[in-house]
Amino acid sequence: MTTCALCHRTAGDGHHLCPLHADEIRGWLAELPRQAEMLAAEFLAPAGGAREGRTGSGRAHSPIPVDLRVLVLLGPGHAVPVGAPEDDTDDTVPIGALLAGWAGHIAYTYPSVHRDRHGTAHTQPCEQAWPARGRDITAWCTWLSAYLPYALTLPAVADLHRQLGRLLDRVRDLTHTTPRDHPQAAPCPSCDSFALARTDGRWHIRCTACGHTLTPEAYDEHAATVLHTHQTTDRTAA
Ligand SMILES: [Zn+2]
Ligand SMILES: [Zn+2]
Repeated sequence: MTTCALCHRTAGDGHHLCPLHADEIRGWLAELPRQAEMLAAEFLAPAGGAREGRTGSGRAHSPIPVDLRVLVLLGPGHAVPVGAPEDDTDDTVPIGALLAGWAGHIAYTYPSVHRDRHGTAHTQPCEQAWPARGRDITAWCTWLSAYLPYALTLPAVADLHRQLGRLLDRVRDLTHTTPRDHPQAAPCPSCDSFALARTDGRWHIRCTACGHTLTPEAYDEHAATVLHTHQTTDRTAA
């Protein structure tokens, strides 16, 4: 048993992240393509504030319009090498470059087995990641989600979590869109608060008070037990 690199929870067998933190990566990868679409829409139709900045009083140094940051995020650019100190000239890493950089790193460590003409198996790293369709943000997100079970066995997956988390913060800040929480009816089995919530794009149900997590199946069972106990108690009291 190993411990999650980001919290005290138990990680899966041979994994470096707990199911909750792994689920966050999965959720971010599912969320990113839609967020990127919204960013592109934002760039094509700049907000009123940005437009005023340009047509305004003719200041020598107008504030950076939002679309420049969007342009950097959606542009090609270079990826920050994994594990290397971040480029401090501009900490906005283009989304595509960050995803492609991580896919490249994961593919390089992923053992690919091929047999030579004598039938001997050779194991060597994959040289490159090849998404099944295209090289856009959606294709990279699909590729990374598919390889996530393997990526979880790499210590670097904690960095992937941190970098994706920062990227999503930045993108959500520009699109003003955050996945919604849906409160659940049953109280938390761990702390009894009515604070369990399901978040769009996330598999687990999480207690916003104590951080306890449940799979949807475990929640359904728990909710059924709570309801049953409640009904039985009512009948006894009546
Ligand atoms: Zn964790
Ligand atoms: Zn709780």
